[in-house]
Amino acid sequence: MGQIYMDHAATTAVRREVAEAMKPFFTSKFGNSSSVYDLGREARRGLDQARDKIFKLLGAERAEEIIFTSGGSEANNLAIKGVAWAYANKGKHIITSSIEHPAVLDTANWLTQFGFELTVLPVDEYGLVDSQKVASALRPDTILVSIMHANNEIGTIQPISEIGKIVRQHGALFHTDAVQTAGSLDLDVDELNVDLLSISAHKFYGPKGVGALYVRRGVRLEPLIHGGAQEKRRRAGTENVAGIVGMATALELAQTERKVESARLTKLRDKLIKGLQIIPDTKVNGDLENRLSNNVNVCFKYIEGESLLLNLDLKGIAASSGSACTSGSLDPSHVLLAMGLSHEIAHGSLRLTLGRENTEADVDYLLEVVPEIVERLRAMSPLYQ
Ligand SMILES: *Cc1c(COP(=O)(O)O)cnc(C)c1O
Repeated sequence: MGQIYMDHAATTAVRREVAEAMKPFFTSKFGNSSSVYDLGREARRGLDQARDKIFKLLGAERAEEIIFTSGGSEANNLAIKGVAWAYANKGKHIITSSIEHPAVLDTANWLTQFGFELTVLPVDEYGLVDSQKVASALRPDTILVSIMHANNEIGTIQPISEIGKIVRQHGALFHTDAVQTAGSLDLDVDELNVDLLSISAHKFYGPKGVGALYVRRGVRLEPLIHGGAQEKRRRAGTENVAGIVGMATALELAQTERKVESARLTKLRDKLIKGLQIIPDTKVNGDLENRLSNNVNVCFKYIEGESLLLNLDLKGIAASSGSACTSGSLDPSHVLLAMGLSHEIAHGSLRLTLGRENTEADVDYLLEVVPEIVERLRAMSPLYQ
């Protein structure tokens, strides 16, 4: 039996159609998109078409509002540092939440050594940010608010449109990390009331190492990477044309299939949650309604997430405990702790994120295997009984 991959929030496989669309840009159309001869123009056409697709899919106004980056982490860094440095003379206060991805939290924290002030908003027990808390945290010197669209560990979807309205009325800029929602929710930058939005191709069946930052017209950004005039001087470096073409193809496909696929995944997700809930001393994490269609996150009391993962691996199941960035360390997830879970319970967390290749048979297999493993690990645990 092959591996059952249930870690789609960590990364996804490149779709065949995406790989096909990318191929010519490695070989026959390999030119530098800044060159004036035909080979360069061919690459430029691929790049321009990809930018057009992406700005339209995001509901943006113009192609220039898209800056291509090396992924979600760079897009988040560019949004936060770029705005911070460009608007430092206006104010130095930034607001974010306690459950952001490290690419947002660490970036915002890093800025505090240069005199920027940071407010990190708490979340409730479901991982939701309260828009009224955002309203009360805004100050005259607030230049930027960054709240993620949906959380990568627990799948909770934030009221971004509502928060955006509050932030806009106040006159600050609003960024959202939409890396987990691109391809799975409808992204419209106007409906979401955002000024900046990050996406990453490898989370929606595109290639790794490529992403984009949407930047609303009129928003100033200090670049992170200096050099050539690419991306209207906001991000130097020869464009990753193949990757960018792959990202546009992947986003277009995901958008077309979104409704049908998300309904299918929701069914599998709910079956999985229901089945796992039967195991005694189990807690489902996150909000059951405002939730990504592919996310399951549970804590099994009295066991360690790490041993659970190793045992699942032996049964051919690829899953995660907390996020990929923190597994390997012994710290429990900062997201679960922010939701008020104790260290002991947070240690026994399991994240299963479904995707295109998963079937109902996979879910049934999991529901057969997980209870057995949990029972066996508990029998060996000194914490149990
Ligand atoms: C994966 C992820 C990132 C980082 O994106 P990379 O392309 O891997 O750098 C940022 N934010 C969220 C919510 C993610 O899930």
